[in-house]
Order: sequence, then C-alpha cells, then structure tokens
Amino acid sequence: MKYNIALVAGDGIGPEITGGCVQVMNKIGEKFGHEFNFIPYLAGGCAIDRTGVPLPQETIDGCLASDSVLLGAVGGPKWDSQPNHLRPEKALLGLRSAMGLFTNLRPARIFPVLMDACTLRPDIVAGGFDMVIVRELTGGIYFGERGRRDGKYGPEAYDTESYSVMEIERIARVAFNTAMARKKRVTCVDKANVLETSRLWREVVTEVAKEYPEAELDFMYVDNAAMQLVRDPGHFDVLLTSNMFGDILSDEASQITGSIGLLPSASLGSSTVGMYEPIHGSAPDIAGTGKANPIATILSGAMMLRYSFGLAAEADAIEAAVEAVLNDGVRTADIAGKNEKFVSTREMTDAIISKL
Ligand code: NAD
Repeated sequence: MKYNIALVAGDGIGPEITGGCVQVMNKIGEKFGHEFNFIPYLAGGCAIDRTGVPLPQETIDGCLASDSVLLGAVGGPKWDSQPNHLRPEKALLGLRSAMGLFTNLRPARIFPVLMDACTLRPDIVAGGFDMVIVRELTGGIYFGERGRRDGKYGPEAYDTESYSVMEIERIARVAFNTAMARKKRVTCVDKANVLETSRLWREVVTEVAKEYPEAELDFMYVDNAAMQLVRDPGHFDVLLTSNMFGDILSDEASQITGSIGLLPSASLGSSTVGMYEPIHGSAPDIAGTGKANPIATILSGAMMLRYSFGLAAEADAIEAAVEAVLNDGVRTADIAGKNEKFVSTREMTDAIISKL
C-alpha cells in the first residue's frame, strides 16, 4: 500500500524528531511492503518567517488532501512577541479545526525499565500504570469568545467556555469505545461543583454511558484528578475530559512516566485522516544539540499506523522495538540517570531501527 503523509516538522527540535520518525517508518515500509510518501509543509514560526503567516493555506490544503499528518512541534522565543493572530500556536489550533480533529488520545504508561526515571516514590508506581487521556480538542475555552474590555476596575480580559451536547456526546463515545478495548473504566474529569459546562458534561456522559452497560463510569473534580495522578496513577484507565483540563492533566501524566519526550498523541475526527504528534513542544532550550528524545514522535508514528491505516502489526513492531531498546539500557539525556551515559537523537533512532 502507498500512503501520502503530510510532514509538518515545525520549529525547534521538530525537524530532528520528525526526521527520526520518518526513518523508522521508512524501515517499517521496507519490511512490510508499504510506501510512505512524506510531503513537507510549513507551519508555526518557520512558516511566519517564510510566508508571513503561521498556517499557510497550502499547508491546510496539503494536510486535508493527505492520508495522515505527522507534526513535530511549533513555537519558540523568536516568535513570542507576535500579535495573537500571528502566533505559531495558531497553526496547531487552525489545523485541528480545519481537519475537524475533535479527539485527542494521549496514552500514558510507565515502561517497567524506566521506573527509576519516574518522579514518584517507587511504592506509588510499583503496580505500574497505563492510562489513556481522551481530551476534547476543538471546543471549550480555547475556542470560545475572548477579548479585552473596560471593566469595573479598569481594563480587563475575558475568555469563555461553552460546550454543546453534540460535542460532549461524540467525545464521550470515543472514551467509552476506547475503554471497551481496555479495562472498561471511564473517569470523567470536570469541575461540576463550579462550572455549568461541567454540569452539562455530567448529564450527557451519564446518558452516553447507558449505551455501554459493561463499562464503569465515575466522575472526579479536576483538582482531585490532579492529586490522584500523583497519589494513585494506577486508578485510571480512560480519563475523559475537556480541552483545557486535558491539556494540563496530560502534561502531568507525561511527567510521571519519566519524561515528556516519551509520550505520543493522536488527534482524530470522524474520518481516518488524523494528526499525530508528540505531546511536548519545540524544546528551544535543546534544539540543535542532539539531546531531543525522538521516542514520543516515533510512537506517534506507530499510532498513525494503527489508527489511520489499520496496520496493527506494523504499529506493534515499532512499540516492541522502542521497548527493546529501553530494555537494553539505551537512554537519551532526559531519561538517563545521574552520571549515566546517554545517546543522541540520531543514535536513539538508529538503535530503534536496528531492532526492526
Ligand atoms: P516543551 O515541551 O517544548 O519543553 C519543556 C521541557 O521539556 C524543556 O526543558 C524541554 O527541553 C523538554 N523536552 C521537551 N521535549 C523533549 C524531548 N523530546 N526530549 C527531551 N526533552 C524534551 O515546552 P515549553 O518549553 O513550555 O515550550 C517551548 C515552545 O514549544 C513554546 O513556544 C510553546 O508554545 C511550544 N509548544 C508547542 C507545542 C506543540 O507544537 N504541540 C506544545 C507545547 C508547547
């Protein structure tokens, strides 16, 4: 099979880590008889520099016409003073919105061999943890009305959160379908003691749960969820939540796996064309040093094979290769212990390819 993949490398470490993923996927193509055709597009700061805007129309058209999108990361201090509508992050929100990607799947599990890199006490993670965060991606406060105005005490700013029943229903179904292939437990995280949108989430999710009688559903306030993630991460199977809560909790979940450089994500809509990206940013502090961990991006490639192309054996092969390399003790700087030797982005990529 031949697949056209839009390659949006972006800024900072983006080109280094997507480069590693492209190499790994090409190796998979060779081994399993597929052709992955990567077509580069500009987005983020590099697009601002070359075209004046963070998300050129050519990039939107190219992503919509492709079979899937691989994204590195966008942004960096160079573009921090851009006006709001010209910030690199606009490219991400614009692509998610143009492609109708309302679901973000973020698996977070601890590799047994990386227990030492975990920031939690060994007794807390001794039983391991393996959760998927299902985050709503195209609604809520990140897309709501916002602005500046004159308030009672002078100038003020506001952002608004709103969710429709339809938006909650479709993301809730994704969460339950995900749970049905796992431990069948959904925890809906909200702030229903304060927010009206959260109360609507509770009503709608409770209704959707009736379609899945075998699944277990519980609700948790977001402040408690933030606490439980570091107190008892093994509690969670599928964590369902809104755009902003998901953004924050998934970074917390990533940190307890050992490094943000390990976690992939998939953004999906109602078609099979998805966007796959590591959950971290462009890491300008280490860009160009060879210190970036390519694993999150390589595992994002595995998610693309599984969710967009239905190539489960190929995805399994990548995930097994990553685990084998970690079991061999190969470490990038972010997961190496104190005084432990570490390898570069390229060496980690080569080690993974050698296992395929
Ligand atoms: P970040 O995720 O880029 O970096 C946080 C820390 O984690 C840094 O110390 C960095 O060196 C480290 N890190 C991140 N990825 C790593 C990897 N693969 N290997 C090793 N270490 C890694 O977050 P930040 O510093 O808050 O943001 C930097 C820029 O990235 C900002 O401009 C921000 O807006 C942007 N950003 C983009 C995305 C995206 O494109 N999806 C997401 C988050 C942040």
